[in-house]
Amino acid sequence: MSVQPEPLVLVPRQEVAATVQRLAAEIKRDYHDKAPVLVGVLKGSFIFMADLIRMLDFRLTVEFVSLSSYGKGTESSGRVKLVRCLASPVRGQDVLVIEDIVDTGLTIAFLLDYLRKKKPASLKLCALLDKPARRKVPVTIDYLGLTVPDKFVVGYGLDWDEKFRHLPDVCVLEGSED
Ligand code: 5GP
Repeated sequence: MSVQPEPLVLVPRQEVAATVQRLAAEIKRDYHDKAPVLVGVLKGSFIFMADLIRMLDFRLTVEFVSLSSYGKGTESSGRVKLVRCLASPVRGQDVLVIEDIVDTGLTIAFLLDYLRKKKPASLKLCALLDKPARRKVPVTIDYLGLTVPDKFVVGYGLDWDEKFRHLPDVCVLEGSED
């Protein structure tokens, strides 16, 4: 049997909840009269998205896309693929992308480019976590939760090899040098 890396708490659940609440307040302020489309990036953002939208008390719709850039381990392959595209057109609508983490920026830059071509009225990005140390392309995060160090994080929806998504805290994997 292979050895499993041990998750250590980096951002406790209470801090994650307070961060999501702050982001919801910022989004409410800017979108309460706009009926935006929130586009969640699967799978990593599913818990964040679920918690966030329940704090938004205005009209909105939800879409999901799925992109793949990571293989099995903790290193990005650098190649981004759209695995699941938008189910409905967003032309003329206010689109807010909900992402779990921005690392090199390659994935989100690819997605924003794809969405921009759909001609939305506006296009903004909300990311729970930012790992700026390894950025390869510039990315503007309009609503940012927390900046994290250059470590591989799991929990609160984020995985390592499809494991650890269910952890309620944001954790780092012991020994991770990412
Ligand atoms: P990027 O293209 O910015 O390098 O990576 C973006 C995607 O890679 C994220 O949406 C996420 O799925 C994954 N990713 C990047 N850094 C991490 C990390 O530290 N932990 C986990 N679990 N996924 C990450």
